[in-house]
Amino acid sequence: MKVNENYKRLSENYLFADIAKKVKAFKAQEPAADVISLGIGDVTQPLAPAVIEALHKATDEMALGATFRGYGPECGYDFLREAIVQHDFRARGIDIKADEVFVSDGAKSDTGNFQELLAADCVVAVTDPVYPVYLDANIMAGRKIVKLPCTPDSDFVPALPSEHVDVIYLCYPNNPTGTTLTKEQLKVWVDYALSENALIFYDAAYEAYIQGKDVPHSIYEIPGATQCAVEFHSYSKTAGFTGIRCGYTVVPKEVKSERVKSEQSSSLEAVALSAMWNRRQSTKFNGSSYLSQRAAEAIYTPEGKSQIGATIAYYMENARKMREALTDMGFTVYGGKDAPYLWVSTPGNMTSWAFFDWMLHSANVVCTPGVGFGSQGEGFVRLTAFGTHENTEKALSRINSKL
Ligand SMILES: *Cc1c(COP(=O)(O)O)cnc(C)c1O
Repeated sequence: MKVNENYKRLSENYLFADIAKKVKAFKAQEPAADVISLGIGDVTQPLAPAVIEALHKATDEMALGATFRGYGPECGYDFLREAIVQHDFRARGIDIKADEVFVSDGAKSDTGNFQELLAADCVVAVTDPVYPVYLDANIMAGRKIVKLPCTPDSDFVPALPSEHVDVIYLCYPNNPTGTTLTKEQLKVWVDYALSENALIFYDAAYEAYIQGKDVPHSIYEIPGATQCAVEFHSYSKTAGFTGIRCGYTVVPKEVKSERVKSEQSSSLEAVALSAMWNRRQSTKFNGSSYLSQRAAEAIYTPEGKSQIGATIAYYMENARKMREALTDMGFTVYGGKDAPYLWVSTPGNMTSWAFFDWMLHSANVVCTPGVGFGSQGEGFVRLTAFGTHENTEKALSRINSKL
């Protein structure tokens, strides 16, 4: 038995495991310290009442023979696919059909799994810094990777690659930098993909945090994107579903590639990625739970919308306070306007990990070292606005008092 050698190319540890180890060691050394985490990207506010109500109702249905549900459709119940189309797309003037929406247990698995549909020799572009899933999933598959540096000099907007790439992963609003692309800037990538016959994987996990008018909520707001882009959505950050698990992926029927027709003939035929993804999911995935999907449906009701909107406003109030306070303390701060993340330059020439250690030991605040998201993240840390108001304010005043 031989193992997949590509796993050797992965970095040794998962970033958040390294952080957890350091925090655990510090807590053992200083048991009385009240450590506040502005590190890992998990939410803190409870589920919206409309979601809880839907979960109770769905649970009661499970208790009766007449309304019990077992296996559901692999790619999602129609009630949810229809709600998604209506509220997330048609309401924005985007023509996406319900059978182009594939409900899943979240965007991490979909962004990690979708590359299975691609040939092993596709060249893949990812930004640096990057959400590690895109990178690691393609390293596991042995693909060649091109890094697109995102630095303050270019406002964290990646430049087009100098060599041809087949696939580009984009995440906006961005994790980890908290920055966005305007429609104009995103159009550059759609035009590139169309002219190079490339595919864009667009991760819109933080779409609900967008405040600015010119920031696209979906890549399909850009003309031509339905021919070259797959878009990932998640209810994790939108509605606090990190523990419930539900998301969806849009694969428009127009997104096609070519493949050799058969082993006997070298002629090419067009193949729709939506058909391949449907086949893949039907084979390897048995659907997100009925409860999760009813919970997701509830966020599209008027009550659900206003409740999740209030929670997002709560987090964005943290982001605003963090931006203001950290800027006043003399830090250079990026992001945090259309995203729950702030990307903060470390003071002096401190490395990401040195500043992480200082934050932990002096202010008892956990941040995420930027270098964990790629070499261009060196000299930065990521702070999240997902804390409670109370903890966020406490953390800010502690950082201030220790400077
Ligand atoms: C949190 C996050 C997701 C969501 O993952 P789920 O599996 O849906 O919880 C997706 N993409 C990015 C960039 C994220 O930060």
